[in-house]
Amino acid sequence: MTIYAGTIVDTPGDPFDGDPADALAEVGAVCVREGIICGRGTLAALRAEYAGEPVTQLPDGMLVPGFIDTHVHFPQIRAIGGLGMPLLDWLERHALPEESRLADQAYAREVAGDFLGGLLASGTTSALVFGSHFAPAMDELFGAAERSGLNITSGLVVSDRILRPDLLRTPRAALADSTDLIGRWHDRGRLRYAVTPRFSLSASNEMLDVCAQLLEAGVWFTSHVNENAAEVAMVAGLFPGARHYLDTYRRHGLVTKRSVFAHNIHPSDVELAVLAEHGACVAHCPTSNCALGSGMFPLRRHLAHGVSIALGSDVGAGAGLFLPKEALQAYFIQQIMGPDGMNLTPVHLLYLATRAGARALGLDDRVGDFSVGKDFDAVWLRPNPGSTLGVNLTYARDTTDALARIFTLATPADVADVWIRGVARQGPSLSEAAR
Ligand SMILES: [Zn+2]
Repeated sequence: MTIYAGTIVDTPGDPFDGDPADALAEVGAVCVREGIICGRGTLAALRAEYAGEPVTQLPDGMLVPGFIDTHVHFPQIRAIGGLGMPLLDWLERHALPEESRLADQAYAREVAGDFLGGLLASGTTSALVFGSHFAPAMDELFGAAERSGLNITSGLVVSDRILRPDLLRTPRAALADSTDLIGRWHDRGRLRYAVTPRFSLSASNEMLDVCAQLLEAGVWFTSHVNENAAEVAMVAGLFPGARHYLDTYRRHGLVTKRSVFAHNIHPSDVELAVLAEHGACVAHCPTSNCALGSGMFPLRRHLAHGVSIALGSDVGAGAGLFLPKEALQAYFIQQIMGPDGMNLTPVHLLYLATRAGARALGLDDRVGDFSVGKDFDAVWLRPNPGSTLGVNLTYARDTTDALARIFTLATPADVADVWIRGVARQGPSLSEAAR
């Protein structure tokens, strides 16, 4: 057992439900036994309860729950920074040529190492990962994820039209490959499988039927929806019988409480109602939305309809794997939306980067905050004392103010340590640990 003492902050509540301040909690210590949190409170109280147990002091900075990324593409980790293109051009000219390289399994192994090492170094301990179009590449990702201890939900990306030919599979081949992968990896330790059509633009009705068949195994589902105006128009042309973009998934039974849809920047009210009715979640990816010029996320409308949202980095369209940066960008977007925007507080930002993701992924009984009984997945943000963030934390008035300064200024360089189910993964060894 270990007692960790410091400034320990989480959001056991929901800041979108009532006064945001009520959702925040701060304690002086947590104790961890075999990777599971067994107590929280003051250091004095935990010392009295667990006399003689070792205490790890975390002087200055802040310990927060491990970040949870609900939309990130592992095959694009080497393709960040393709600026200046809207979605469909960016896919064709920038992202998909790189994704094709993962046909080479040795290349995919290196990419999986780069990707998981990057997540750890950014303090991300759980993620819903958009996979590769190639089954052997998925074996590499799942194998490396298992060794890393990260909480990973992912699956083979399936498409049977419009994309470059080497990324296409027949529905029959997609069914066979996906079934094999589910058998090998779903519910194995911290790994789970997610059925992943790239988007209905590249998936025929036959392919979407295969996806529905695969969901019967009790796995997860993820895809893209309503990201870009040209994409939305093209999907409407491809599915003349569909009432709206989301309907291309709904009529195949793919909108469920285990479904996470990325983006949803341009939804109709009917689509929001359908998402809420089925308990499906939306992954908001703000830096990607800005980089591709996709649009501004209607957060208030999602909440008004009762649709749960979480954050995704959407690497490689997004600007890196560090979730606090996504939270800050979400804040920026809402600020410039005028009356349609929401005034997000620092408590909202911490919630969005942690517990909201746990809820979206159905993992909130295990991770997302420091409640007793949950896995100790944690990030120690500890800036150098002379850094601008270090100076700002010195002058923070209270916990909420300190959080505001962290979300404004922190970078992966401020990640001093990451714990995965109680196991510390020190900075320099992070990328090696994932290999
Ligand atoms: Zn994406």
